[in-house]
Amino acid sequence: MRIKKTLGGKYMRSYKNDFPIFQKNKKFVYLDSAATSQKPKIVLDAIQEYYATYNANVRRGLYPIAEKATKKVEKVREQVARFINAKDPSEIIFVRNATEAINLAAYSFASHNIAKGDSVVTTIMEHHSNFVPWQQLAIQKNADFVVLDISEDGFLDLDLKIKKAKILTLTHVSNVLGTINQIKDIIKQAKAINPQIKVLVDAAQSIPHMKVDVQNLDCDFLAFSGHKMMAATGIGVLYGKRELLKQMRPFLYGGEMIKEVSIAKTTFTDIPYKFEAGTPDIAGIVSFGAAIEYLKSTGIETIQKHENRLIAYSLSRMKEIEGLTIYGPKDIEKRSGVVSFNLNGIHAHDVAQVLGDMDICIRSGHHCAMPLHKRLGITASARVSFYIYNNEEDVDKLIESIKKVKKIFKYG
Ligand code: PLP
Repeated sequence: MRIKKTLGGKYMRSYKNDFPIFQKNKKFVYLDSAATSQKPKIVLDAIQEYYATYNANVRRGLYPIAEKATKKVEKVREQVARFINAKDPSEIIFVRNATEAINLAAYSFASHNIAKGDSVVTTIMEHHSNFVPWQQLAIQKNADFVVLDISEDGFLDLDLKIKKAKILTLTHVSNVLGTINQIKDIIKQAKAINPQIKVLVDAAQSIPHMKVDVQNLDCDFLAFSGHKMMAATGIGVLYGKRELLKQMRPFLYGGEMIKEVSIAKTTFTDIPYKFEAGTPDIAGIVSFGAAIEYLKSTGIETIQKHENRLIAYSLSRMKEIEGLTIYGPKDIEKRSGVVSFNLNGIHAHDVAQVLGDMDICIRSGHHCAMPLHKRLGITASARVSFYIYNNEEDVDKLIESIKKVKKIFKYG
């Protein structure tokens, strides 16, 4: 294990060593974990082990490797339930990603509970995957689509227009501003005003970086993706309170979600399986289990502290660069490891492309949050996002490279 001295003078582990992708090219700087995270070796090994030693379909075969695969999937369901403190593993539905989780909730819950004149409330800071499904549902149902605004420094304006709302759906952490919404207080406030309201939390950008406890938050649904928290792509979760899930109709129909099928009718099996039609992404689920092990052994608080230090450092170094505008909260305690910015006079795509040529991976564009960009009065931004494998050296390389970008475009 390599130990490194950090800015604060403390010694800490170099987590990069756990991730094979960093071993190939030591110059490589990955600052796009909000899009997808890199995968530690234990995750890659778990996938390899599954395919090499117990590859079989689940919940149907009666031979040993099929039973082993089935047990593994259920073990990971229990791991996920413990990770978010769900009451019961049956509240964990495996889906492809956060997007599918939100669509499942929108179609299965909301489409049967929302009628003309009701309202669906969301916020201007949502990723399109927590905006478009609700907007489309509202259009179909002739319901009101209410969008909460943000304050100048990127916090939600909690003028909760939720008296008639059947559902409030909002992100825990903004994938553009980095704002950490005070989700527990928001849910409490929303339920005090309207006890019937259900709340969906989009945890795609929070769960990889901070403790999320669904019972403590008292959210009704929670959606997230495995690939942003070190698991493979193709696996995500919808958490739902048991009683709610039981009342909801399936979203997808097909194999392994039925009790009985006849020509006249079909009856469905219990939760969570009635929402998991067809063969699941078994390797993805296996990888999810290994990712959770990695996150737990590293310690979610360690991850959060490490990222806070990096944000503080990167925000202070970004101030050196004239003409650089940073979006989102100024208070470091209130933001996560996502920093979006623009360089005066240079398009975000140009910034990202030139940095890419220097082996520094960042994101540019609207980050699937067009309404928010419009609200900020911009069409695009550049975004850096951190995870446990980043360090101050990465930030230094970023800053020096941004300065070079300015020179290349003859600005500043
Ligand atoms: N919600 C937020 C806040 C996100 O940042 C993202 C992806 O970046 C999503 C939802 C959608 O995640 P996925 O593409 O894995 O479904």
